[in-house]
Amino acid sequence: MAYTTITVPGIEIIPGDILKRLPGVPVASVADVDPAFPHSRTLRMAGGGWYFCDPTQMYVVVRNVADETPTANSVLVLGPTASEGDVSDLRAYAYSVADELGVPATFATHNDYRVTDFSAVYVRCAATEFHDTVGLVLVAEALAAGMPVHEPQSPQNAAPCVCGQVQTIRTVVGDDGDVWCAECRGETGGCSHCGESMEYDDAENVEEGHTWWPVHASCLAEAQRMRPDVEFVTA
Ligand SMILES: [Zn+2]
Ligand SMILES: [Zn+2]
Repeated sequence: MAYTTITVPGIEIIPGDILKRLPGVPVASVADVDPAFPHSRTLRMAGGGWYFCDPTQMYVVVRNVADETPTANSVLVLGPTASEGDVSDLRAYAYSVADELGVPATFATHNDYRVTDFSAVYVRCAATEFHDTVGLVLVAEALAAGMPVHEPQSPQNAAPCVCGQVQTIRTVVGDDGDVWCAECRGETGGCSHCGESMEYDDAENVEEGHTWWPVHASCLAEAQRMRPDVEFVTA
C-alpha cells in the first residue's frame, strides 16, 4: 500500500481519503447522496466533524492505494469506461498493447493510478472522444508530466516489421525507412515471472488485476503446474 495523491469527483471519495483542503483528517464514513440535495454529499470526518462535498466536483485527495506496482517499462492504457462494453474494449486493447510492445499493460477503470509510475500512456481513442472522467483526468496528468501519450494509429498505418510482426498499435519507422517492432528495437521488457529476456514467439499475456503481464509460455506452464490453485503468480 502506498499513499498517492489523486483527483476524484466527490462521488468517488471513500473512507480513509484525506482531502487536500482538509489536511490531517481522514474521511471516516460517507453517506449516499440525498436526492433532495444532489450537490451535497455528506462526509463524516475522523474526529466527528462533517464535510459536504459536491458529487460532481473534482477533489484532490491522498489515498492509500493497493500497490499494483508497475515495472519500469509498464504502460497505462486509457479509454472510455462508461459501459461494460467500453471496459471490455479497453481490456482487449490493453492486451494488444502488451502483446505488441512486450511490456505489462494496465487498463484503467478508475483514477487511482500515478501516471508517472508508467513509461507511457496509450489511449484507445482520440482524447477528445473521452466522455467520462477516468481517462480524461489521467491523460491530462500524463500530458502535464510530459509523458508520451499515444493515440491509436489508423488501420492503414499497420505494417510488418522486418521480422514479420505486424504493427497495429504504433508503427515505428527507423532511419533506414524500415519498420522496427518493439522487440527489434530492443524495447520489450523481460518475462514478468522470471525477469529473463523473452522473444515474441515465446510470450503469453497473463491477466492479473487490471494488467496484462507478458511472460514466457514455459514460465506460465511451470507456474500452473506448481500452483494449480491460483491463476498465475507474477514475480
Ligand atoms: Zn521486429
Ligand atoms: Zn520467464
